[in-house]
Amino acid sequence: MVDAKQLFSERGVTYDDFVILPGFSSFGISDVSTSAQLTKNIRLKVPFVSSPMDTVTSAKLAIALALQGGIGIIHYNYKTIQEQVDEVRHVKRFENAFIEDPISVSTEDLIDKAAALRKGIGISTFPVIDKDQKLVGILSKNDFSMKLHAGMKVKDRMIPIEKRVTLKWSELSADPDKRLEQANNALLDSHRGTLPILDDEGRILYLITRSDIEKNESYPLASKDARKRLRVGAAVETRASAKDRIKLLADAGVDVLIIDTSQGHSLFVIDLLKHIKKTYPDIDVIAGNVVTEDAAKALIDAGADGIRVGMGVGSICTTQNVAAVGRAQASAVYACAKAANGSGVPIIADGGISKIADITKALSVGASTVMMGSMFAGTEEAPGEYEYVHGVRVKKYRGMGSQEAMNQGSAVRYSLEKQTIKVPEGVSGRVVDKGSMHQWVPFLVAGVKQGMQKMGHKSVAELHEALWNSKLMFERRSLMAGREGNVHDLFDYEKERI
Ligand code: 5GP
Repeated sequence: MVDAKQLFSERGVTYDDFVILPGFSSFGISDVSTSAQLTKNIRLKVPFVSSPMDTVTSAKLAIALALQGGIGIIHYNYKTIQEQVDEVRHVKRFENAFIEDPISVSTEDLIDKAAALRKGIGISTFPVIDKDQKLVGILSKNDFSMKLHAGMKVKDRMIPIEKRVTLKWSELSADPDKRLEQANNALLDSHRGTLPILDDEGRILYLITRSDIEKNESYPLASKDARKRLRVGAAVETRASAKDRIKLLADAGVDVLIIDTSQGHSLFVIDLLKHIKKTYPDIDVIAGNVVTEDAAKALIDAGADGIRVGMGVGSICTTQNVAAVGRAQASAVYACAKAANGSGVPIIADGGISKIADITKALSVGASTVMMGSMFAGTEEAPGEYEYVHGVRVKKYRGMGSQEAMNQGSAVRYSLEKQTIKVPEGVSGRVVDKGSMHQWVPFLVAGVKQGMQKMGHKSVAELHEALWNSKLMFERRSLMAGREGNVHDLFDYEKERI
């Protein structure tokens, strides 16, 4: 049995190298809070951050993760700066349960088009628009039958808009929660399944549906800013063009910026960090990646609001094999957390999480939040399409230092953009389908809570207090201990999700 100081006194320690000893517990799992600081000024109810990678975080995943209490960091590997900015805007504009830009049909379209859309993407209600884009009717699955109406025009079967209840966006409250409640009440009063919401010119803006409202009614953990908009972060590169990008991201309302480089202990990172803090004092900045005490201290001294820790431990990463640098992740997190302890600057443990216990272990050795790539890749909300390999449903997941991603522009993260020979520091692969973030994130959170309850710590703050006071005790894990701690000696078994 050792305390953290002893555990990390020898060679590099990975999450699998130790277990945590249980502590006296006087409360239930539901009493555990996972709430923690992402940065000096941003607190999350769920300490999960998604990696700024082009197979992980675009607006769709960032919205789902923010609704579930974490935060997504939009990557910068788009063709233009504007595309990244648009993704940030999309998250900031997200209206819970309001369907944006609903798929419409026109009065002159054939019923067959609506039937094909219904079959293809499963939509059952279509706003019908005229040539001036005005909403003139609603066509729903109950309004036509392909047996009887194939070849007819939409205008001949739609319900004209005069016969439907509609709402004007400008007449709704400015408060997002009240707005949703008003819309919901109007929908109920209309006795219909859907309600169109229009701009002042009569064009369709949103559609709300009974089933969506029921599904989305409450996200009590959602990460929101003071104006009740979802929170979102964005990654920026370490080169001069970052300044233009940062300006546009700031205008779009980004909550936090991450200076995204694999080696954050550098003059350029420190200069850029100082520039952002001076020019945009209201935006929190996370700097990294670093793995040593000195590096963490340098970034804290330069004004970082959060420190991102990890080098060469990502599931898709080959940095340690190529560049001979890096550090075992638990050692790196502990070293940087020690440097930051007392400064109010939280640590983000980035990479190398492959099971729930790794998240709990990262928090136990000083991280406040955990950044994950492979754990979120392969969800429904992650970019890319599913494919089947040997009957297994998978999605692409690639390192930002892989040849493929660098061809698209991410070489700057590895300072390779000007090199004629670029040795990749990551690979491109696939991960198994994990379903929707809306089920996956709560599942992971529940697992973390189970661990914290067994340790006898009700909150991340309590856990950290026990860590620094040598109350949290660990045991080094031998190879045999690791074997014993995994499933063993069964003929076969049903593999759980994680
Ligand atoms: P994962 O959660 O999959 O283990 O790791 C994700 C993390 O790996 C990212 O947040 C990022 O820090 C790091 N990363 C992403 N792409 C690459 C890469 O190509 N090479 C290296 N060295 N690290 C990467």
